[in-house]
Amino acid sequence: MAKILILGAGYSGMTAAAALDRNSEPFTLINNNAYHYFTTLLHEAAGGRRPPMYYTVPIADVLRKPTSTFVQDEVVSIDREKKIVHCKGSDHSYDYLVCTIGWVPEYFGIPGMQEHSLVIRNVDTCIEIRQHIEQQFQQYVQDHDVRHLRIVVGGAGLTGIELLGELLDWIPKLCLQYGIDRSLVDVQNIEAMPTILPQVSEDLRAVAYNRLTELGAKLRTNTKLVRVEAGVVHLDGDEQVEAGTIIWTGGVRANPILTEAGFTVDRRGRAKVNEFLQSVDDDHVFIGGDCAWAEEDGKPIPPTAQAATQMGPLLAHNVTSVIHGQRMKPFHFHNLGTLASLGPDVGVGVMMNVPVKGVVGGLAKEGSKLKYLYQLGGLRLAVDKLADVVDI
Ligand SMILES: Cc1cc2nc3c(=O)[nH]c(=O)nc-3n(C[C@H](O)[C@H](O)[C@H](O)COP(=O)(O)OP(=O)(O)OC[C@H]3O[C@@H](n4cnc5c(N)ncnc54)[C@H](O)[C@@H]3O)c2cc1C
Repeated sequence: MAKILILGAGYSGMTAAAALDRNSEPFTLINNNAYHYFTTLLHEAAGGRRPPMYYTVPIADVLRKPTSTFVQDEVVSIDREKKIVHCKGSDHSYDYLVCTIGWVPEYFGIPGMQEHSLVIRNVDTCIEIRQHIEQQFQQYVQDHDVRHLRIVVGGAGLTGIELLGELLDWIPKLCLQYGIDRSLVDVQNIEAMPTILPQVSEDLRAVAYNRLTELGAKLRTNTKLVRVEAGVVHLDGDEQVEAGTIIWTGGVRANPILTEAGFTVDRRGRAKVNEFLQSVDDDHVFIGGDCAWAEEDGKPIPPTAQAATQMGPLLAHNVTSVIHGQRMKPFHFHNLGTLASLGPDVGVGVMMNVPVKGVVGGLAKEGSKLKYLYQLGGLRLAVDKLADVVDI
């Protein structure tokens, strides 16, 4: 029996594994955690909305068939010639590889950014952000240095804007907890491009801008971060902003393991695939999610959870088709829209070509999470998580 090895249990790897599990098709999944996490909601975890582990699902709750094997380990490299994946704990051979190990932050070579900023990358980094901000507030109570109360968020894409929404909801609670005047807390967003949230229309951007500024954030577009030192960001035009917390959300690139394995990659390190999500360099390797350089009508498909979850089931179908001598299916991306939350209650975005905003936008974001859980584990998982939220 041909051995299928899946690397990474994110949106694409987990949905691929769930599909193979449902069909009792044997495979091994390697992931660095024993849980799958909802990357698209990590800003909520970082901003203190719910405990970080709320944003996870144990992999064992999704993969229930004896044909499915899970190994918790960290992938280090891929030897395509020998068809071996080297991990920290042990090595694993494969006949067919499904590579879905996601993304890493893109720092665009900004000096000091990697060393001196926090990032939303996984559950652990969100815990780090929460703890760091809370420590800064505690520090202010000790020394009354207002720099501890300044938070700079670099990047006004989906991640940066959604994070701002969460922070602006959390800050008044922290102020109350530590007896700090809210007006002393300074939250700044710095964006090099002329607009925030490029994914949505101009009027929805205005809704987001107004909401966040009313809640007390300063949003600065057309402003470049050029260098970062401990506690200081340097902007173009020689301006400096001293801040106790610096968070970078400015970009992502594919996991560098793909470039190191010698795949043909684009400028963001994503490995080129054909219409079947099969590597153009190696027909024993399928690639999905943020690792895949896939194109539709000659244009690259942007790296999103939406694309990753659509790719997962197709990766499962195509890898088993190759093994069983059946026809593979081509990938077609269906853009269902983009939603950005602006704190717990409201959001903006487009769903099925219809603009949504306000409470409807917020509810739509919650709904998309339940729909995803249903895709992963049917009613059982969706109802379990709903019970967590409403405490039943
Ligand atoms: C805060 C935030 C909000 C977002 N909001 C949206 C949104 O609203 N809509 C949208 O479509 N997209 C959104 N995105 C983008 C989206 O989350 C990504 O495109 C998506 O996660 C990519 O899925 P993936 O399966 O490729 O990788 P991931 O979901 O990142 O999964 C990769 C998996 O591989 C594991 N892994 C990584 N390295 C290793 C290793 N060396 N060894 C073992 N395991 C490893 C990781 O732990 C993870 O489980 C958002 C991103 C962020 C950060």
